[in-house]
Amino acid sequence: MPLLRNQSLLDCNTLRIAASAQHFYRVESDAELLSALEALQGESFLLLGGGSNVVLQSTTFASCVQQSTKGIALVSEDAEYVTVDVAAGEIWHDFVTHCLQQGWHGLENLALIPGTVGAAPIQNIGAYGVEVGEFIEQVTAYERSSGKSLVFSRADCEFAYRDSVFKHRFEDALVISSVRFRLNKTPSLVCSYAGIADTMQEQTPQALYEAVIALRRSKLPDPADLPNVGSFFKNPIVSVAQANALAQQFPGLVQYAHTDSQVKLAAAWLVDQAGWKAYRNEKVGVHAQQALVLVNHGGGSGDDILTLSHDIQHSVAVKFGVSLQPEPRIY
Ligand code: FAD
Ligand code: NAP
Repeated sequence: MPLLRNQSLLDCNTLRIAASAQHFYRVESDAELLSALEALQGESFLLLGGGSNVVLQSTTFASCVQQSTKGIALVSEDAEYVTVDVAAGEIWHDFVTHCLQQGWHGLENLALIPGTVGAAPIQNIGAYGVEVGEFIEQVTAYERSSGKSLVFSRADCEFAYRDSVFKHRFEDALVISSVRFRLNKTPSLVCSYAGIADTMQEQTPQALYEAVIALRRSKLPDPADLPNVGSFFKNPIVSVAQANALAQQFPGLVQYAHTDSQVKLAAAWLVDQAGWKAYRNEKVGVHAQQALVLVNHGGGSGDDILTLSHDIQHSVAVKFGVSLQPEPRIY
């Protein structure tokens, strides 16, 4: 396995924050991963997939491991379902496209999400009414400290809204090596989000996949053109009572039922109403079409992004009494 020294991480994070790793391991097999873990001897390190959900606040990391293992293996198949094991370094969108081509369904709404398969369970990636956890049967990971292999069933993963056990009890403790998916052979299309059904020419998985891609391309900045990490804040979940009180004060409040007693507020609306949409300073700013997306206009550091995010959190808290939580991981 090639060990690179003093490697720039500029191209390894979609916010294009300048940082470097004194030791950089790009692992392309489980054996290489285990050698890297052995060399690291339990030291902490920055683990990256595609770097599309991280803010690098430190400018120098002692060690970084980039999970780049590849492979899709059929485990079982019957008339209704197919089960596949997918290596953690596979590119998420390529896997979604592969599934569609094979006639394996369920992931169409998650097309074009950046990043790797191995990172998908971490925050239970979701879009347009579908969450990846619905299709995950198990996750296999190595313990960073010992190299021991662990298997998590779907229940063990404790998937919730943009959340899982990997962000809590096992935060920065594991390297996911593969994810087992159970996909449908009979499509069941989720077309409830605005802009999806009305642009579909026909009710097929291919049309849904294309509608999602077209909608995302029309609304979201491509990190290759304007560096970003997607939504910077999670949509806050509040009690029905708090949402009702807010709606009285702010009649335009955008809210969606979450559970019987909880409501999901649209964080983008809160940020927009607090006056931040299209804000920019010399280096960083808020996207002009999507207030949840913080962007790096060039040369912005992790501190520049975090100062902006703290200012936004503060003004949303003052105006609405709602606490916004960042979605990306900060290192
Ligand atoms: P990274 O950013 O590299 O890592 C994220 C975290 O996961 C880090 O803590 C890292 O240490 C950990 N990690 C990475 N790989 C592993 C592994 N193999 N084992 C253990 N831990 C690991 N997210 C959504 O949920 N829905 C969306 O619709 C969506 N849209 C986006 C659009 C844009 C334009 C962008 C830039 C981002 C978007 N995201 C979205 C966020 C992001 O794409 C996802 O969170 C994605 O899963 C991150 O994958 P990654 O490989 O880039 O992870
Ligand atoms: P949108 O469709 O304009 O919707 C704005 C917000 O309202 C979203 O956050 C969404 O919640 C919520 N919403 C809209 N319709 C809903 C419905 N029918 N039921 C429940 N909630 C609804 O959002 P967008 O910014 O263009 O993004 C589209 C989808 O891609 C969303 O699902 C979003 O989560 C996902 N996305 C995520 C990221 C990321 O980095 N996490 C980045 C870009 C896009 P949800 O977010 O809960 O869906």
